[in-house]
Amino acid sequence: MSNFVFDSINKLNLANLPTPIQRLDVLSKEWGVDLWIKRDDYTGIETSGNKIRKLEYTIAKALSEEAGVVITCGGIQSNHCRATAAVAARVGIKSHLVLRIDEEPPIEGNYLLDKILGANITFISRKDYSGRRNEIMKEIADEYESKGIKAYVIPEGASDGVGNLGYIEAVKETLEQEKELGVEFDTIVCAVGSGGTYSGLFLGTKLLAPQKEVFAFNVCDDEEYFLNVCTTIAKDTVSALDLDLEIRREDMHIIDGYKGIGYAISRDEELEFIVDVAKKEGIILDPVYTGKAFYGLFNEIKKGNFDKNKRILFVHTGGLYGVFPKQEQFAKIL
Ligand SMILES: *Cc1c(COP(=O)(O)O)cnc(C)c1O
Repeated sequence: MSNFVFDSINKLNLANLPTPIQRLDVLSKEWGVDLWIKRDDYTGIETSGNKIRKLEYTIAKALSEEAGVVITCGGIQSNHCRATAAVAARVGIKSHLVLRIDEEPPIEGNYLLDKILGANITFISRKDYSGRRNEIMKEIADEYESKGIKAYVIPEGASDGVGNLGYIEAVKETLEQEKELGVEFDTIVCAVGSGGTYSGLFLGTKLLAPQKEVFAFNVCDDEEYFLNVCTTIAKDTVSALDLDLEIRREDMHIIDGYKGIGYAISRDEELEFIVDVAKKEGIILDPVYTGKAFYGLFNEIKKGNFDKNKRILFVHTGGLYGVFPKQEQFAKIL
């Protein structure tokens, strides 16, 4: 792609890249597929997971605008908020997190790490979160600005036309690893929660490896919602980079039906699946995203819906700290 210019865009090097790609030998045999995993849970410790790939671009933009504070939002156990708090500390600016809660939360998991990392925190209700989180972040930004501190608001999950670039780059990285490994993946699979990872992978493959298909399992909302969100994010990037590329929602594949009882709520069968995978492969999936997406993939493979997909790469997008707030539910099944 001659006009593919994202290399020239400002970014920080914050993640441990490239992340390893490993073959899942036991599960490949059991499920009758050639199954591999990309360890984006290895991008860091404080910054583990997928969000740091997006934040490399987002925080670079915030710094270029001379921000002294980044403001972002998420659920109480948001991996994105924790990664943002860590990165902000690392680059020497403040972080302010707007966290969605139902009741006074125990200080555990990612929320504990947010506090250790020095984030300022505002709690809001579920209703305010869905209705006016962006307004609330704007109000907080105005407060900082009135004190002379430049504020930069990062949308939920850093999923916008900027953050998206991190997963276009992940596709480029994967193509280089394919050469080294001597394998080619025809299918890439991930979880979708705010859309940036999927739309980045989608765009990256459209630009650099159009023969590949990317599938995502939604962990909240539904297929229709994510087709809209991911199309919007991808179009933002296309116009920011001035690319000659048509984004069609018909080309996107969101597989609905595996969010279970709801976002960040686990069914025992999902946790049992996580335990099974951990025992067989020594890899711990998280209950909120990767556990549900991988469980979805397992079920879809069993149904024969991936029969045409010869070699599958699942992206482990992190989330380990989400295991700890579920310790009681895990304890029941162990
Ligand atoms: C945020 C997150 C996702 C979803 O990625 P989006 O880009 O928000 O769709 C998947 N896995 C983990 C562990 C996450 O924290």
